[in-house]
Parts: sequence; C-alpha cells; structure tokens
Amino acid sequence: MRKLDTGKKLLALSIFTRFSVLILLCLLGLWTEYLNLKMGYNNPRLVELSSGPAMRVFYECSDAFFSLFGDPLEAAQTFGGMTWSIRLWGVPFTDPIAFFSILVRDRSLEWGFVLGLILPITLVLLFGRVFCTYICPASLLFFTISRIRRLLGGFFYFPNLSLSKGFAWGILVGGLLLALSFGHGIWILILPYFAMGQTIFHGIAFGTISVAFFSLILFSLFDLCLGQQFTCRYICPTGRFLGWMGSKSLFSVRRDAKKCLPECHICYDVCPLKVDPKIDDSKDCSLCGECLVACPTKCLSIGKVGETWVKLG
Ligand code: SF4
Ligand code: SF4
Ligand code: SF4
Repeated sequence: MRKLDTGKKLLALSIFTRFSVLILLCLLGLWTEYLNLKMGYNNPRLVELSSGPAMRVFYECSDAFFSLFGDPLEAAQTFGGMTWSIRLWGVPFTDPIAFFSILVRDRSLEWGFVLGLILPITLVLLFGRVFCTYICPASLLFFTISRIRRLLGGFFYFPNLSLSKGFAWGILVGGLLLALSFGHGIWILILPYFAMGQTIFHGIAFGTISVAFFSLILFSLFDLCLGQQFTCRYICPTGRFLGWMGSKSLFSVRRDAKKCLPECHICYDVCPLKVDPKIDDSKDCSLCGECLVACPTKCLSIGKVGETWVKLG
C-alpha cells in the first residue's frame, strides 16, 4: 500500500479532529440535558417516560461512561460549556476573545477562566494558527464551501476580493465596544465558531434555530461569493489574533530553497489563508498541509523554524 505523504496525513487529521470537535459540541449540549435528568429523576425508566426511549439510551450510555471516572453526577459536572469556554475532565479552555470581552466589560475575571488560556496560548506559540485547521468547528463548513467554490469555479465566475488584514482588528475593537453596550451575546453574531456552537446547542437543547444560524449563512455566502475562506482571512477576529500571536511560532512550514522553482507560485495559489511559503514568513499559517500536497518538488515540510527557513521577500 502507498504511504500517504505528510500533507495528505495533515489534511486527513484535520478533517478527523474537526469532526470530533463537532461531535464533542453535540455531546456537551446533550450532557447538559443528561445532568438535568440525572438531578431531576436519577432513574432511566422515568427518563424514558419524560423524554422518550432515545434519551433513555443516551442517559444510560452517559451514566456508564461517567461511572468510569467515579460518581457519574460529579464526573459529568467536570464537563461543560460551549465554544466560548469549555471544561473537559475539569480542565478549562478559554477563548481569548472571551477573555478580552469579559475583561473590558466586567473588569473581573475568575481564576479558572484565566487558567483556561494556558493551553490555547501554548498551542499557538508552538504551532501557530492551528486552532483554525484542527479545532475550529466552523472551519469544516468553510473548508467544504471552498471545495464547492473550486468545483463551481469551472462553470461560474467568482470574484476574489481582498481587504486589509486590519479589517478583522477593526471587527475585534467594534465587537468589544458592542459588548460594552449590549453584552457578550453579541459575539454569537461575529465569531463563526461561536455561532456554530450556539446553533448546535439551540438545536439540541431547545429544538429551535438560533439567530446565530443566520450569521453562519451570511459567512458562508461571503466565502462562496467574495473569496476563498474570505471570513477566515478578513472577518474573524480570532483568526487575526491567532495569526498575529502565532507569527513567531516554534514550528511552521519550511522550504528547502535549493529545490524551490523560481517561476512557481503553486503554494501561494492553493493556500486557503493566502500565506506565501515562498516569500513570506509563517504568519497566519495553520499547518493545514495543502501546500505540501501541491508543491511539485516536495520542497516544503513542517518542522522547527530555523536556518532551513529562507525568506526571499
Ligand atoms: S479564522 Fe475564525 S472562523 Fe476561521 S477557522 Fe479560524 S477561528 Fe475559525
Ligand atoms: S502555508 Fe498555507 S497551505 Fe501551507 S500549511 Fe500553511 S496554511 Fe496550509
Ligand atoms: S510550490 Fe514548492 S516549488 Fe513552487 S514556489 Fe512553492 S515551495 Fe517553491
């Protein structure tokens, strides 16, 4: 059997991890319901009577899963939250934008919330903007739309607009000002992954469509009609922040300058975030592996940024 090269492995891994995150978000929504039923009934038969046989099956499976870690009720309480701030086995993960928003508006932060920044920040300092390719639940949607756009591009004309990267910083500042006036809820309309989490949660917990769903539609139209991954490149403040913070990450795409072809620009053409491994530094690179797959001489690799990284610009 032929071995997959690194780029293809990364592509497959990113699809797997993003699907896993989507499943996790669904589970977190369902576990909120499980906790309510556990505290309300603590009995599978009563759960079936109140919420139907499917919920009974889910309740019993969750009970068996959480029992592996001790008391199921206590174990279930170590899981919670949604995109903005998540707890898994009691370990907190905080969205940096949530941190700024709460800091600006409430001027008080819980320790758990601050500690939740450690893992995301470490990840970005080590690997750059990988959240976008391997974790962000909205990026699977944008990834799919970019494929559809590419496919339809053979039949229709799609413009490829570009904006200043400062636009997303403006959205961040605007979002913080709106949060000051209207509350943190404003982010479900601005942050695509938050909108995705909210849409999933509303669907599961209340069986309704959240208003966030309509912002997802708008972002999808941007990506389809205005430019490949337009939302991620120009709109999403988290992507801009992670790109800025990850610009000096320890690991990134490296180029073997001796094998690079002078007239070639394929890596830039295929890069969904329009990073140019040929002339740019690694700012905004999310280690998606697409350029590694496309490079005709296979002179790109991922590794520690060092002497083999050659800047031509
Ligand atoms: S830029 Fe924003 S929406 Fe796009 S993948 Fe990154 S975090 Fe998700
Ligand atoms: S340079 Fe672009 S295509 Fe290459 S790994 Fe980074 S984000 Fe992906
Ligand atoms: S695709 Fe490969 S050969 Fe072409 S410019 Fe990029 S690094 Fe060089």
